[in-house]
Amino acid sequence: MKQGTFFPDYHLHTSFSSDCDANIHNIIKAATDSGINSICVTDHYDMDFPVRDDEPDMDFYLDADCYYKYMSEIREQYSPSFDLKIGIELGVMDTTADKLNDYALSHPEFDFIIASSHIIDGLDPYYPEYFEGRSDEAAYRRYFESILYNVEHFKNYNVYGHLDYVLRYGTHKKESYDMSIYTDIFEEIFKHIIYDGKGIEINTGSLYKGLSFPHPHPDILKLYKEMGGEIITIGSDAHKPYYVGYGFDAARRLLLEHGFKYYCTFEKQKPKFVVIE
Ligand SMILES: [Zn+2]
Ligand SMILES: [Zn+2]
Repeated sequence: MKQGTFFPDYHLHTSFSSDCDANIHNIIKAATDSGINSICVTDHYDMDFPVRDDEPDMDFYLDADCYYKYMSEIREQYSPSFDLKIGIELGVMDTTADKLNDYALSHPEFDFIIASSHIIDGLDPYYPEYFEGRSDEAAYRRYFESILYNVEHFKNYNVYGHLDYVLRYGTHKKESYDMSIYTDIFEEIFKHIIYDGKGIEINTGSLYKGLSFPHPHPDILKLYKEMGGEIITIGSDAHKPYYVGYGFDAARRLLLEHGFKYYCTFEKQKPKFVVIE
């Protein structure tokens, strides 16, 4: 994926994620081929994931110790010419938000923790059931409400992932979005995120999932900036090497347009601000 913008990719999956079979060596090769010399792997762990009968292997379980040990060896192997950070994407639900605090605190070795909403009221917006019997507007609102609950209860993360992931799967996803109807709820979400010293990510995965903008929608990004949000990472959410660094030119343009001067990298969960060139 050749492009002219070389942000470190801070949202990437490998074969440690239930929904991914990408080999870490191929991910690193794809990054270096694109001119990116630093990435952070963020494999999935969704505590108490509601496993479906038709997809028994999709349990989104992660053996964190095994994963960290393996990735540490890979990090050594490629150091110092390539900088591999080791992170995790924690799926958060109302039933696990409190428990995940203990989990995250017991894993200080991770460089970076993304909190993400994948399951709401037991349903994944990836499947049509999530949208059945209600309007897209109501389905989206419910998704955002669950994020608010999660940021009120789960405090041990660094950035909240793909804030409007639900838009990927709406039944009218190709039409324009009036995000102003959700300003009230995003104001509440951002109060928590910013007050708690956390951040958000620009997630370009939406660009290869049928949306014309990275997550979050530009109006939501604007609101975050206006409310004083500064911490932001950039990630492709790639589950295949091809998508490493995908759409980072668009991410850079959006960040600069909205007045962001810095993006963040993380080491042992401490942010470092880097000037956007
Ligand atoms: Zn995710
Ligand atoms: Zn992800």
